[in-house]
Amino acid sequence: MSEHHHTTVAGVAVDTRHWIGGERVASTETFTDISPIDGSTLGKISRGTAMEAAAAVAAAKAAFPGWAATPRAERARILHAIADGVEKRLEELAVVETHDNGALLRSHRRGVMPRVAHNFRFFADRLLTLDHEDFTTRGHTNRVTWDPAGPCVLITPWNAPLMLATWKVAPALAAGNTVILKPAEWSPLTASLLADIAAGAGLPAGVLNVVQGLGPEIGDALTAHPDVRRISFTGSVPTARHIAASAAANLTPLSLELGGKSPLLVFADADLDLAVDLAVEQYDNAGQVCLAATRILVEESIAAEFTRRFTDKAARLRQGDPRDEATDIGPNIHPRQLEKIDGFVRRALADGARAVVGGHRGEGQYYAPTLLTDVRQDSEIVQEEVFGPVLTLQTFTDEDEAVRLANDTRFGLAATVATGDPARAERITARLVAGTVWVNCFFVRDLRAPFGGSRHSGVGREGDTWSFDFYCDLKNTVTAPKGWQDH
Ligand code: NAD
Repeated sequence: MSEHHHTTVAGVAVDTRHWIGGERVASTETFTDISPIDGSTLGKISRGTAMEAAAAVAAAKAAFPGWAATPRAERARILHAIADGVEKRLEELAVVETHDNGALLRSHRRGVMPRVAHNFRFFADRLLTLDHEDFTTRGHTNRVTWDPAGPCVLITPWNAPLMLATWKVAPALAAGNTVILKPAEWSPLTASLLADIAAGAGLPAGVLNVVQGLGPEIGDALTAHPDVRRISFTGSVPTARHIAASAAANLTPLSLELGGKSPLLVFADADLDLAVDLAVEQYDNAGQVCLAATRILVEESIAAEFTRRFTDKAARLRQGDPRDEATDIGPNIHPRQLEKIDGFVRRALADGARAVVGGHRGEGQYYAPTLLTDVRQDSEIVQEEVFGPVLTLQTFTDEDEAVRLANDTRFGLAATVATGDPARAERITARLVAGTVWVNCFFVRDLRAPFGGSRHSGVGREGDTWSFDFYCDLKNTVTAPKGWQDH
């Protein structure tokens, strides 16, 4: 095979072509995938165009009737077989993902990839219990069913590539839909491995298609296609706006999981060590987490002590090679992202902010974990998502001020509250605008719960029945009672 058809990453062979209708398809052009670890080239990836997009939608359309008619139990069986395949190749998926997006190998091994398998198992099992109790209206039976909708375009980002892709792929397939997955161009490899795994698990040709390419080049051909019945997107707000406009031509239903600027509220009655741990945890994945609580809001009376303990703990973080078990923070994804992060910090410093921790680049693809104080509420650094290891710290004096600051951005993805007073936790939680609120914890996530954002953080919710509601055409069938015709 030509070097334009496959690559080998840490001993794992990865096909770099599209996967369309059960076949590998190459584009004439390629784009280069580089590793954030050392800037090395990981592969030449097929650079899809409108032609490959159309072919993938056609394959998904052709495969749809067969898959939609496949009994639920059989669909569930195949999804479990995909989960088995993920577990069998877990180490390979973890290693390839780490080389591709720079996130920690230990978290890919122990957290992320097991959850990828779980995504398939959860929606397979949920499908089998998905039901609505029939009820009657003047003797007529109402029966609600979740009908498969058709081909779904799923567009995903690079910060947790396979994890975020399978949150969509698993429920879309379980629902009886066919899929065109377009992974981010900075982390295209594990989606290709997923195609192999799905084929090995017996998923029929054309049910899952993977197209590679640059968003602006291949995006519109997917999102404006009249045969596409659903678009689910995780990524940035500007891209979401573009996709929404493109989908408007066919009024294609959209699910949007977007950015955030989430707050961590620390009250004086909080367990301070826990609060500091929660704050430092926001550097995970080099800050490239949509849910990250990047705005730390601390009650004035404990701000000095909090900052001292935070600084001590942040200084002990080990930044380095994400393949090393001892590493806490890996590299940022791409030179362009690093430039973006640095731009935010330099403008904040010029605007009067003070870097208590970091505030500058590290070696190579690394950005020093950073904490900025003396920031204005209406400044760019407080209002805009950085998507790097950059946190701000502000103080408040009472609950009203804490809530006002917490809610004062255009986002509403998540919020974390640290307090020792359950009544206060309840009061504050009720007033926060956020899809998820954590009290004295962070990042605990269960697929039975709805997930998503308010305001510019998104449209719709994923998880449990909310995913099925999105990926299905809900139908209510009203049947007259026996003998009705005689009346
Ligand atoms: P991005 O918007 O740049 O890209 C996301 C995807 O969209 C990529 O696959 C890209 O190729 C594609 N794309 C780009 N232009 C397109 C177009 N014109 N048409 C169709 N597709 C197009 O986002 P990113 O930088 O990859 O991801 C980071 C963003 O994602 C951050 O804002 C982060 O907060 C957000 N995010 C949100 C969640 C969530 O669940 N809410 C999870 C992770 C990341």
